[in-house]
Amino acid sequence: MAVDLARIEKLVNELLLAIGEDPRREGLVRTPRRVAEAWAFLTAGYRADTARVVNDAIFTQETNSMVIVKNIEVYSLCEHHLLPFYGRCHIGYIPTGKVFGVSKLARLADMYARRLQLQERLTEQISQAIMDLVGARGVGVMIEARHLCMMMRGVEKQNSVMVTSSVLGTFRESQTTREEFLALVGHPAH
Ligand SMILES: [Zn+2]
Repeated sequence: MAVDLARIEKLVNELLLAIGEDPRREGLVRTPRRVAEAWAFLTAGYRADTARVVNDAIFTQETNSMVIVKNIEVYSLCEHHLLPFYGRCHIGYIPTGKVFGVSKLARLADMYARRLQLQERLTEQISQAIMDLVGARGVGVMIEARHLCMMMRGVEKQNSVMVTSSVLGTFRESQTTREEFLALVGHPAH
């Protein structure tokens, strides 16, 4: 389903009127078009699927070691306020013979982030996709994010970071594996 840019433009024009703005003033004349294009980009994840994103970049690799990719930047939109939340995603998995190409985990995270989201669901979708795509022995995903709907509206919530994690397979079953993941992921700075 393609994005209906014309429809978004009309809505943004209405929005500007509804908040008491003048959509005809110089700075706003092209705003509805720009907003429509931005929304097309920010929601591109609805028009993508894992097969295309990963694009066959799954390789055979005999290893039982944990693969970790830390500090993947994520930018998403909370579905309750349509405001951004952003932060870092850390991914770990134990392959059973298949591994992802280096950039693909970040692409996967982007795909799910470019939809209206809850941080919890985003975390789970990424871990489940990894499990499904490479048949991992176990997967752990942690996201640390700041939500503008809290930071811009709340009082004294500017420094709160929401942390979510999703563990599957051996990461769920084995405390040792889970602890190894958490230790490798560490406590990254923001
Ligand atoms: Zn929100």
